[in-house]
Amino acid sequence: MTNEHVLAHDAEKLKQYQIDSDICIMEVCGTHTTEYFRTGVKDIFPPRLRLVDGPGCPVCVTPNHYLDHAIALAGQKDCIIATFGDMVKVPSSYSSLARESAGGARVEVVYSPVDALDIARQNPHSEVVFLSVGFETTAPTEAVTVQQAREQNLKNFSLLPGNKLTVPAVKALLDAEEVNIDGFILPGHVSAIIGTNAWKFLGSEYNKPAVVTGFDDHDLLKGTLLLLTLISENKPHVLNEYTRVVRDGGNQHAMDMIYSVFDADDSEWRGIGVIPGSGLLLKDEYADFDATKKFTVDIPEPKEHPGCRCGELLRGLILPTECPLFGKGCNPEHPIGPCMVSTEGPCAAYYKYGR
Ligand code: SF4
Repeated sequence: MTNEHVLAHDAEKLKQYQIDSDICIMEVCGTHTTEYFRTGVKDIFPPRLRLVDGPGCPVCVTPNHYLDHAIALAGQKDCIIATFGDMVKVPSSYSSLARESAGGARVEVVYSPVDALDIARQNPHSEVVFLSVGFETTAPTEAVTVQQAREQNLKNFSLLPGNKLTVPAVKALLDAEEVNIDGFILPGHVSAIIGTNAWKFLGSEYNKPAVVTGFDDHDLLKGTLLLLTLISENKPHVLNEYTRVVRDGGNQHAMDMIYSVFDADDSEWRGIGVIPGSGLLLKDEYADFDATKKFTVDIPEPKEHPGCRCGELLRGLILPTECPLFGKGCNPEHPIGPCMVSTEGPCAAYYKYGR
C-alpha cells in the first residue's frame, strides 16, 4: 500500500471505530494539541471520544511569578532579557514583557539559547538574562549554553531557570484523581530524550495505557488507533508509535548533558502548584550563571486574572471552549492567559482551528 492508502485506511478506521462508552484521552504535548487540529485528525474522531489537553505547553505551565521575576530583572539598568518569542506576549501579574519593551526595557527574541550568548558577547557592558523555559527537549541545549558561557568566560550571561520535567507532572495529575483519563498520547520530542521506558509507570503503577506518538497525520492516526485498541482490550501497556525517533532508553548523552548542569528540584506549575522533583535548577557550581542568585530584585506578589481558566485546562478538567472568556475578551490579539498566546497553547489552537 502507498502512504496515501495507509493514511486513508487509518482515517476510515478511526472514523468507524466503535466506542460503547465515553472515552477520555489526554495528549501531554502542546505540539500534539495543535497538530490534532491542523491535520484534521481531530475532526474524524468517533462519537464519545474526548481529547483533553495536558500540562504539555511549557509557556502555559510557567507560573506568573516567573514572568514577574523576569520583568523585575528587565527593569534593572543595562539588563537585556533574551527569550523565545512566545514568552513576550504572555500576561504576567501586572504587565508583560511586550509592554515592558514598549516602555523601554530591552527584550530580545532568540531562536536558541546559544543566540543569547552572542548577545552577551556583543553587549559586554550589559547583563544578558536568558529565560530558560522548556521541557526535557530544550534542556540539553540550555545545559550546553551554560557550559559554553563558562568556557568562554562570559561574565555577563545568566539564565533564569524555569525548565520543567514532564513525568512528575503526569504523576501529579493522576495522583490528584480530578479527571478520569482512559489513556495518554505521549510526547514524541520529550520521549526522544527520556525514552519510552520512562513512561512505563503509567501501565505498571496506574493501570493506564499510553502511546508515544509522532506529529504528522500518519503518526496521530496510528497513535490514536493503538491507544483506542489498548483501552478497549483493557491492556495497560505503554507502546511506542514513533520508533523512527524514540528509543526505549532515550538519548543517554542528552540526559547526561542535562544532569551535568542541572539538578532536579521542586517546581511550581501554573494551575497545579508545586510538584516535587519536577523542575531543573542550576547546580551550585554554576551559580555564577543563575540569575536568581546573581541579582536581587523586588518581585511583586503574583496574582492571576480571576476569569482565566488556564489552570483547569492544563489539568484536563475543561476544554478551551468551556472557558467563558474564550473568544469573548480573550483572543490571540488580546490574550488573557498564556494558553491563548503560545503556539502550543490549547486556547490558541482551538481559536485558530477549532471554532
Ligand atoms: S480562553 Fe483565555 S482566559 Fe480562558 S483559559 Fe484560555 S487563555 Fe485563559
